[in-house]
Amino acid sequence: MNIFYMLMLMVVSAMAQKVEFQVLGSGGPEIDGRASTSYIVWIDDKARVLIDAGSGSMLNFEKSKARLEDLEVIVLTHLHIDHSVDLPSYIKAGYFSNRRDVLPIVGPSGNRYFPDIEDFLDSLFNGTYKYMSDVLDEDSDSFQIVPVEVDSKNVIHKKFKHFSLDLTNVYHGNVPAIAVRVNVGSKSLLVSGDTNNKNLSLEKLAKNVDLFVAHHAIPQYAKGYATQLHMTPSIIAKVAKDGNAKKVLLTHRMKRTIGKEEESLKVIKKIYNGEVLLAEDMMKLKL
Ligand SMILES: [Zn+2]
Repeated sequence: MNIFYMLMLMVVSAMAQKVEFQVLGSGGPEIDGRASTSYIVWIDDKARVLIDAGSGSMLNFEKSKARLEDLEVIVLTHLHIDHSVDLPSYIKAGYFSNRRDVLPIVGPSGNRYFPDIEDFLDSLFNGTYKYMSDVLDEDSDSFQIVPVEVDSKNVIHKKFKHFSLDLTNVYHGNVPAIAVRVNVGSKSLLVSGDTNNKNLSLEKLAKNVDLFVAHHAIPQYAKGYATQLHMTPSIIAKVAKDGNAKKVLLTHRMKRTIGKEEESLKVIKKIYNGEVLLAEDMMKLKL
């Protein structure tokens, strides 16, 4: 190796950003000792992306030492309670923080069962919590939140200061839902959100990801309605294999899958050769 090449390598590695993925909530909607779905993407020790805000999320956000001032976006993959219920708590806490920058809240479109992200925020802050209605205004007393709706079968690319997002609709029964890929320099991760991947949407986002965060809510032999909502372990494995994902993190763990990890891992490892980890609250992985 010549000296020029070595120097180049040293410069590139010194410039590389530190990217970490932290699980705030590894559970689903049950009362089971885990917080519900929520994750932070840390970039150079700052919490830049919050993905989902299920119950218990904010307490673990506090424990993680993340700061609301550092967030550039909140993404809600869908509006089920176990993914969104803590959102008003963050916004209220933000009122007492030093945050003044606008905070985009990315979320799905609506249908007859669910509001779209704009109506969701409106129903909260112009409805139930209308004492906080100024957060929807430009001249807010604290900071403004702005809905960003994603309604596309194609991949939508959005740029932020420290990262970019790729977003697309995924199939989750009658629930409008999205998956999100976070790109930071040469690093990337994909959060499936809740989906059974019926429309093969995840394949559009999974190419060469360093980490595939897969919602593992049902066991391989699940039958009936649950399979219309969630991926079986073999579907997770296929997405990981076809996308050439470096690592898989199984999360959104529910009583249906707890105690059956060995069986799920056996199914996955028959199809996918990479490392597979099981999520716990507060777990932090370096990409
Ligand atoms: Zn869920």
